Formats: sequence, C-alpha cells, structure tokens
Amino acid sequence: PHRNYHRCWVLNRLSPFLSRSCLFVVLHIALQAAVFGEYTWEVFVYCWELQFHLLLLLLPYLLLAGNMGCFLLCSRANPGVVTKSNAASLVQVYAYDGVLFQRGLVCPTCSVEKPARSKHCSVCRTCVHRFDHHCVWVNNCIGASNAGVFLLYLLSLTATAAAIAAVTAAFLIQVLLLSNIMHGTYLDAQGQEHAVEIPFLVQHLFLTFPRIVFMLGFVILLTLVLGGYCSFSLYLALTNQTTNEWCKSRRFGGSPHLPSQPHDRPLVYKNIYSKGIWRNLKEIFKPPTVLERKKKT
Ligand SMILES: [Zn+2]
Ligand SMILES: [Zn+2]
Repeated sequence: PHRNYHRCWVLNRLSPFLSRSCLFVVLHIALQAAVFGEYTWEVFVYCWELQFHLLLLLLPYLLLAGNMGCFLLCSRANPGVVTKSNAASLVQVYAYDGVLFQRGLVCPTCSVEKPARSKHCSVCRTCVHRFDHHCVWVNNCIGASNAGVFLLYLLSLTATAAAIAAVTAAFLIQVLLLSNIMHGTYLDAQGQEHAVEIPFLVQHLFLTFPRIVFMLGFVILLTLVLGGYCSFSLYLALTNQTTNEWCKSRRFGGSPHLPSQPHDRPLVYKNIYSKGIWRNLKEIFKPPTVLERKKKT
C-alpha cells in the first residue's frame, strides 16, 4: 500500500509536466548541440592552431554551463502555483490596483481566489502568482518564484551566443589577415581586374568554411534577437511589471483616456507596484511574502 501511495503521488506531481509538450525544449537542446558541435569540432580546433588564448576559447563553455544550470532551475521550479492552501496568504502580498486586478475574483478552473498580479495559465492548468508568461522554451510558467532565475537564464543565453559570435568572427578575420587576400585583386567574368571588396571576402569565406559562416550568421541573429528581448525583460524587472501587466496596460495606455460609455469612469492605468529600481530588481530574486509585508507596516 505504501508503494501504491507513492506511485500515485509521483503521477500527480508529474501530470502537469506530462500534459505540457516538450517540443520546444527538444528544439532548444538540438540547436544548442548543433552550434556547440560546430564550435567544438571546427572553430575551437582552428583557433587553437592559430594560438588564440585558451580562456577566450573556453568562455562559451563556461557560459553554457551557467546557462544550463539556470535552465534546469527555471524549468523545474514551482513558478508560484496558487493553491487552496496558500491563496489566502498570497492574496495579501500585493494590493489590487482596481484596473488590471479586481478584488474578490475566483478562478473558474482552480476555484481559488485570485491574488493581485496572478493569472491562470491554460497550459499548466493552474493559477500562477505574479504571472509573467508561459515560456515554451523552458516548458514552464514564469512567475513569482522563478522570474529571477529566468532573467539570469536569458542573460547567460545571450552572453553565450555573443561569445561564440565574437570568437568565430575573430577567427574569420584572422584567416583573412593571414591569407593577405585583402590586398589582392581578382578577375571577373569579363576578364577585368577588381580590387577585393567585402562581398567578395564573404563569398570567399563562405566557400572555404561554409558551416562556420552559416553558424556565425545564426548566432549573430540570435544575439540581436535575444539582446532585444533581454533589454525588454530588464526594463520590466527594473520597473516591477510583468509581461502580462505590460500587455494588458497597453489597452489603458495612450491619452486621452476616453471611456467606452459616456457614464463610465475613465480607467487610468498606473503601475502601483514599483518601489524604485533596486528594490524592484531585488524583488524578482527574492519575492515578497506576507510576513515581510506585515513586518514593514
Ligand atoms: Zn486558475
Ligand atoms: Zn504555464
């Protein structure tokens, strides 16, 4: 009977994970493996022969290790699931702003009272406290308890892509400098002599190292996209907003605030959760609890 009980407990614990698809996690790992495979078997070997500094060549692996740690912490964490037993205390953590979050609403699916800043996630099928968004890449919700580690995950992923891009670009530039091709000339189809220009150099590199140039193009694109997303996430963290709140507040944004019905009071959104840059940043790493709030007031 003890073993049966244990098995049931494990299945109950696993069910939200089984219902979520891990397609994007597989894609995530496959892309990382492809980039690091290419880096290890070609770029690293060539750079080692060209006597690049070992620490520079190892930097992408160090960042990858940090990134994988953050990935595991973020994907396996309880993001802050609202349950019947903790709802009463979570309701007291944040004030209801009366615009995005109304007091006294009950989630029709979980039948728990919705704390301010929480939202029901249809993928996880639970309400999540300080809900940010459901991330398919880590296959978990981002909420009060894992928002900080998610930011670290994003920063380390961007840094990994940037480090690989930098080492690879340095390698290709070194190849061009050593080959002295930049001072040469080439003959076109009409037999005319031309000085070497950038498109010719890119073409030359692509024909010589097709996989490396393709990989470099991919990691540069990734660095730009992730860099943009990182900046956005950092902005949200510093202003103490969740992605959910940012999206919803767009509806109340823009001036003047014209009510849809003449007798309606115009709803003006104002971020009431911001406590200044440093305390906002601290909050995503150390979510406030009811006890803390009581201590301060
Ligand atoms: Zn719910
Ligand atoms: Zn979710």
